[in-house]
Amino acid sequence: MDINDVWKHAQSYILSEINSEVVYNTYLKDAFPVSYEDTVFTIGVALPTRKNMIEIRYKKIIESAISRITAEPVSVRVIISNGKDIIQNENSPSGEPAVTQNTQHEKDDRVTLNSANLNPRYTFENFVVGNSNSYAFAAAENVVNFPAQNNNPLFLYGKSGLGKTHLMQAIGNEVLKRNPDMCVLYVTSEQFMNDMVNCLKEKKMEVFRQRYRDVDMLLVDDVQFIEGRDGTQEEFFHTFNDLHMKNKQIVLTSDRKPKDLITLEERLRTRFEWGLAIDVVLPDYETRVAILRKKAESLNINLKNEVYEYIAERINSNVRELEGALSKMIAYAGISHKEIDIDLAEFALASIIPDEIKITPQGIIEHVCDFYRVKPEEVKGPSRVKELVTPRHVAMYLCKKLTDMNFVTIAKVFGNRDRTSVMHAVDRIMKNIQTDDDLKSEIEFITKDLNA
Ligand code: ADP
Ligand code: MG
Repeated sequence: MDINDVWKHAQSYILSEINSEVVYNTYLKDAFPVSYEDTVFTIGVALPTRKNMIEIRYKKIIESAISRITAEPVSVRVIISNGKDIIQNENSPSGEPAVTQNTQHEKDDRVTLNSANLNPRYTFENFVVGNSNSYAFAAAENVVNFPAQNNNPLFLYGKSGLGKTHLMQAIGNEVLKRNPDMCVLYVTSEQFMNDMVNCLKEKKMEVFRQRYRDVDMLLVDDVQFIEGRDGTQEEFFHTFNDLHMKNKQIVLTSDRKPKDLITLEERLRTRFEWGLAIDVVLPDYETRVAILRKKAESLNINLKNEVYEYIAERINSNVRELEGALSKMIAYAGISHKEIDIDLAEFALASIIPDEIKITPQGIIEHVCDFYRVKPEEVKGPSRVKELVTPRHVAMYLCKKLTDMNFVTIAKVFGNRDRTSVMHAVDRIMKNIQTDDDLKSEIEFITKDLNA
């Protein structure tokens, strides 16, 4: 990520945190980014008084603003610099970029980070594997271990925010880690298209072809974008053929499976189906909890399990939203100096959770208990009296049916029971509703009530 971009985004957050334009303009407006290395973000200011003030009062806010953008813990260092070189060079007639020692270093850094255009954060290590995504993960690993052997192209498809880009870039990062001499290139299909248009305009198609065809591995993200764009499809078709013929691995992502890219030329669609197409699906509840925990830990934050569970239960459509919810909570906690607990989570999530009704195990237990006129503690408790067993079994059955939680997790909600007791309960209810019409309509009534 470009440090100027990071700083630009951080600034608006800092301003809103400080909530005073006067203060901001006095101390922070003229601060500028100098470098970003090993989680240390260095900013420069012209006067020692400003440096002191920032260090004493605003460092934490700046750190939290930058962390939100870079998604990693960051410490801020403030140096005194008039930034003269930078400013003068930028305005110099030749338009040459500034070359101070720091920026030169950072420039080199950026080249190595970006030579393949990959985000170093997207690694296999940072990808949480659970039941729902283990197949996609294995396929990605397979491509690293046996490039261009079995699955060429590897085609990852699925809705937005589920980890396609992450997995795709993780392949690239891992390949480069194992063999830095490999030439890997990541682009979005939009970048591919823009690059092509520019090269056409400047009559540099040779350069373009060399760029995309002299690689060992080409990763093209969001190929659905080239649907209906004939020129781009034509060029992409030849790029694909050339690489495939040379036994170079191609990885593609899309929001739909190849067959559903309706306005894509048939010959490209067929090629996309040559290898392995994998549906990247929403991580299940347990994986969502694990993703949140991993993410928080990477920010050096440890929350109670119940907080992770609370968020994972409610945000169940998209991993990006899940991460957003966590950042929002951390930001709220920072501003209000409160500990992150369920109350704070509830408050922070209020603005994110869609209005549609979310069915949670707690909600199910409450509705079931209301209906059978028993208490939730009793239903979750050990007693086996008949008045409690039916509601307990019904509630377990509905948890299995209406949420995406597995037996182990449901068993935990019901007073840390054994998983098999939930399996038996679900089994029994499924059998009984075949013959017991009363039970069947009771369950229908409760389900309707839950969705009301
Ligand atoms: P997509 O490309 O499918 O729209 P992304 O790859 O951009 O989704 O993922 C969105 C965010 O969710 C990214 O920050 C990514 O790191 C994170 N993410 C998705 N799946 C996982 C996972 N299994 N483990 C950890 N992070 C994940
Ligand atoms: Mg993506």
